[in-house]
Amino acid sequence: MKMLEDRILKDGIVAQGDVLKVSSFVNHQIDVPFMCKLGEEFYRLFKDSGINKILTIEASGIGIACLAAQYFGVPVVFAKKSKTSNISNDVYTAKVPSFTHGNISDIVVTKDFLTKDDKVLLIDDFLANGCALLGLKAICDEAGAEVKGAGIVIEKAYQGGGDKLRAQGVRVESLAMIESMEDGKIVFRK
Ligand code: 5GP
Repeated sequence: MKMLEDRILKDGIVAQGDVLKVSSFVNHQIDVPFMCKLGEEFYRLFKDSGINKILTIEASGIGIACLAAQYFGVPVVFAKKSKTSNISNDVYTAKVPSFTHGNISDIVVTKDFLTKDDKVLLIDDFLANGCALLGLKAICDEAGAEVKGAGIVIEKAYQGGGDKLRAQGVRVESLAMIESMEDGKIVFRK
């Protein structure tokens, strides 16, 4: 999506550890009209997929998931990053190593909010190694919910997460795909 690529080039900062910072419009301050346009694009891509629920992971996925959900007219469920490994029986859970923090979270979704009747769109801000999305998919699989696709704002394609998900048959649509970020220079995959 050209407007997103232009914004990344204008405001994105390549930080240490292969991290792209887009804090001025996605991850800390949110440019709502701009992010709404991304939400609308997810709707254009997935409007015929019968989606009745959007699933994301806290914290950064929530904003974009909610803005997209307005166009779909469906609820958003976000997986919580549990602070304890003391998991009760009424939740689905998966272990997700964090790309940015380096720790492992037990992510949880209450069983009431995800069922075998759900047709789910996964949404997240970034796709890197794929751990967050694979965790969300594992939770959907456990619930018997059908993953109809994944909408990603920025995929760092060279980190392989998108390949893993696509190999599992997930339709992944990324609005910007980064081919490389060497020496602070961002190159998009065309
Ligand atoms: P993965 O699980 O695919 O390795 O990483 C995805 C998660 O890590 C996303 O939910 C996002 O919060 C975070 N993440 C991964 N790479 C980046 C990055 O370059 N910049 C930012 N801001 N977050 C990232």
